[in-house]
This record gives sequence, structure tokens and C-alpha cells, in this order.
Amino acid sequence: MAYGPGVADVLIIEDDATIRTALVRALSAREHSTMTSPNALDGLQSLVDHRPDVVLLDLGLPDLDGRSLLAMIRAVSEVPVIVISARDEGREIVSVLDAGADDYLVKPFAADQLEARIRAVLRRSTTDRVAAPVVVGGLEVDVRSRVARLDGKDLDLSPKEFDLLAFLAEHAGEVVAKRELLAKVWNQPYGGADKTVDVHLHWLRRKLGESADEPVYLHRVRGVGVKLVPPS
Ligand code: CA
Repeated sequence: MAYGPGVADVLIIEDDATIRTALVRALSAREHSTMTSPNALDGLQSLVDHRPDVVLLDLGLPDLDGRSLLAMIRAVSEVPVIVISARDEGREIVSVLDAGADDYLVKPFAADQLEARIRAVLRRSTTDRVAAPVVVGGLEVDVRSRVARLDGKDLDLSPKEFDLLAFLAEHAGEVVAKRELLAKVWNQPYGGADKTVDVHLHWLRRKLGESADEPVYLHRVRGVGVKLVPPS
């Protein structure tokens, strides 16, 4: 959380301008800071750029179904997502919770109810993420604050590069297959663009100041995958 306890950066993805304005007003009155997106793709970009503490997600968006957006959000972030929808159906609610939403509010709802839900997901997300930073040699990866350091200096990583490094650091010393990286870091369990992994590994190596031919932390295991180890 960027500010004090209970005060969150809230991203509102909602196409209805009236509801958007009402939400901004209600949340601002409770000292949250807000940003808004009127459609799914803008919302996803905003999420990546601003890393909010909570996302309020409308399911009926003009460019993409909110549930598809939820899957895309989950591929890049563990940010708490509260779905807000006019669809009051048990099956719908279960399916978005299964798809990775943290909570669900049926419109219309009272601002106090929203506030209570926001506090609840924030409490949960901060207790979920008490995991200590992973340390491998001079590399330190703190999943909670999403900060990675090399020899005490912050690394400037994209969200995907961070996720990739965090996954490899959590599995330090193990050979990790590219297919597993695609499944776990990119949420693509059925393969797909193998180049994606190579390209991100390449970028990550550059940021770590090494290369595939002169590895320090990231070692290529030919025909299998990659392994992160402390420098020898
Ligand atoms: Ca809508």
C-alpha cells in the first residue's frame, strides 16, 4: 500500500460514467486515491503502469468481457480484484471468484459496503504476502513490495521480468523448463510462443549484467530450460 493503513490506490474499470463518478466520489471521501478506465484494455494498461492496491472491475465492458480481463489481470498481477456487476446470479458469482476475483459486489451497493470489502481484501492481501524476500547470492527478490535488488541496487524490471525472476528465484538451484515458465509466469499451460520466454530471459540477463554465453545467475540448461544459481 502506498500511503497509510486502509488508504489505497484504487483502479476503477467501469464504462458507465455515472457509476464511475459516484465511485470516485465515494472513495475519495474515504481518502482513497482513485484512477479510472472506461474500458478493459485501458484498464489493463493502467494496472501495469500504476500498480494499484485494489481493482474494482465491472463485468460488462465495451471492448472485452470483464471475465476475460480478469484472466489477463491474473496473468500479470496478484492485485486484489473486486468485481462489481449488475448480474446477480449465483453461477456468475462463483465463476468470477473461480477465475481469480477476490470479492464480488452486486450493483447497486452502498459506499460503506464497498469500503468494508476494500478493507477486507487489503487485509488479506497484506497477510498473504508476508513472505520474506528470496535471497540468492547478491540477488534479493521481494515479492511483497515487488522490488528486486542486485548487490543492493534496485533493478528496473518490467512486471513480467519481475515475475520471471521471482519464479526462478523461488526455485533457485532447480532446472526450470520453459514450458513451466510459460504455464506459471504467463498463464499459458498449453505452450504457445516459446520465443516469449527466450526474449524475456534475454532482457532479464541484460538487466542482471550477464549474457547466455557468460552466465552469472541465469544458466541455460540445453534442451531443458534454465536454472538460477548463486554466482560460483
Ligand atoms: Ca458496464
